[in-house]
Amino acid sequence: MLEMATTKVPEVRDITRIERIGAHSHIRGLGLDDALEPRQVSQGMVGQLASRRAAGVILEMIKDGHIAGRAVLIAGQPGTGKTAIAMGKGHIGAKIFFSTGIIFSLEMSKTEALSQAFRKAIGVRIKEETEIIEGEVVEIQIDRPATGTGAKVGKLTLKTTEMETVYDLGNKMIDSLSKEKVQAGDVITIDKATGKISKLGRSFTRARDYDAMGAQTQFVQCPEGELQKRKEVVHTVSLHEIDVINSRTQGFLALFSGDTGEIKSEVREQINAKVCEWREEGKAEIIPGVLFIDEVHMLDMECFSFLNRALESDLSPVLIMATNRGITRIRGTNYQSPHGIPIDLLDRLLIIATSPYTEKETRQILKIRCEEEDVELSEEAHTVLTRIGMETSLRYAIQLISTAGLVCRKRKGTEVQVEDIKRVYSLFLDEARSSQYMKEYQDSFLFNETREFSMDTS
Ligand code: ATP
Repeated sequence: MLEMATTKVPEVRDITRIERIGAHSHIRGLGLDDALEPRQVSQGMVGQLASRRAAGVILEMIKDGHIAGRAVLIAGQPGTGKTAIAMGKGHIGAKIFFSTGIIFSLEMSKTEALSQAFRKAIGVRIKEETEIIEGEVVEIQIDRPATGTGAKVGKLTLKTTEMETVYDLGNKMIDSLSKEKVQAGDVITIDKATGKISKLGRSFTRARDYDAMGAQTQFVQCPEGELQKRKEVVHTVSLHEIDVINSRTQGFLALFSGDTGEIKSEVREQINAKVCEWREEGKAEIIPGVLFIDEVHMLDMECFSFLNRALESDLSPVLIMATNRGITRIRGTNYQSPHGIPIDLLDRLLIIATSPYTEKETRQILKIRCEEEDVELSEEAHTVLTRIGMETSLRYAIQLISTAGLVCRKRKGTEVQVEDIKRVYSLFLDEARSSQYMKEYQDSFLFNETREFSMDTS
């Protein structure tokens, strides 16, 4: 049942990264030197030296393959760079960001969502031999039925050095191969593994669409003698992509719509067994990626026990979690625990702590963000913004950069002044002022029930 359709899937991608690119786009690495010593300011990173050093050691272990199946927790107050440190970890494998909100989805169970994230973070590099056939096109025949959708047939008569052969192109191929693109007399090559046709060194099948469909040119009358070349092709796909392709009820398109639904555990077991077999035969290599779970305290007991079990598997990625919670209740139980994480899971984690920034560091981070957002600040404005960052939060101060930039542009200024900062500071409330406002005016709000402010995350 396991199809080798894995060869038609694009490289392992990291889709969720796009969501985060704004806030952390200035982070280009962990800012460490060759001896893994952190530089005070480097690669967009400022301060937080001890945790960056620790993250660097872990990164090195990941690269050496010493840490697959292990888990790391980055714990610290809000805005102390936990996500930034996770983003700064460059890595050869896939980097998947799991949004804990998905566990509230009704479309799939929590453990299924976690399973899919785990398997997206495991790459399988498959080595395959392919055959390239080269020849001159004698005739192309594309037949489209008068009615109906999609079903087309086509044949390509190709003259190779040895003989003239008719190739059945299969209907998917016809969509991207028209008579205008290939004509009699053209010299073309056909890659037998991918079905890709190339002319004069140029590929003109829409390789992405075509590969995605998993269609394969069917060769008819293909005697041994005409095979011109052999080469090794390497494809990297994720375990999740193999799951989807082999899940009978889904089909290839599910990979693009993201609408994969639940995948049966038998399918996954079969795939694990097959991948292990390929690995033993030297046909495949496992590339453990990194799975990042932010706000891990949002997970409940069921999810934590899943994580405990999943980390035991030898097909497990490196798990990096982050939390800003102290001692709090574990969701779904009445027990309290550090970070809201069960003790048995905590016990197997490498824990990295982040600490609050000094004024100088806050100033440096804000400076880097100004450069990133292309906003110029006067010295005094920078000092005021830094003070706001220290007294409210770093995130709030970062948010004020682009808004102050806009206010400055509106008054046709080129450099943000203290006045611009004051303006946006009064326009947008930080968390403390918003809470204060609520306290003062709570009676005017609808459905006001609380007298005390406390956040219940259960
Ligand atoms: P939370 O607990 O609220 O999720 P966090 O610890 O994950 O917070 P981040 O989101 O990483 O905090 O940091 C807030 C902002 O400050 C981001 O834009 C981040 O890129 C930036 N930042 C934080 N720490 C650093 C640092 N050491 N160097 C450069 N930029 C940083």
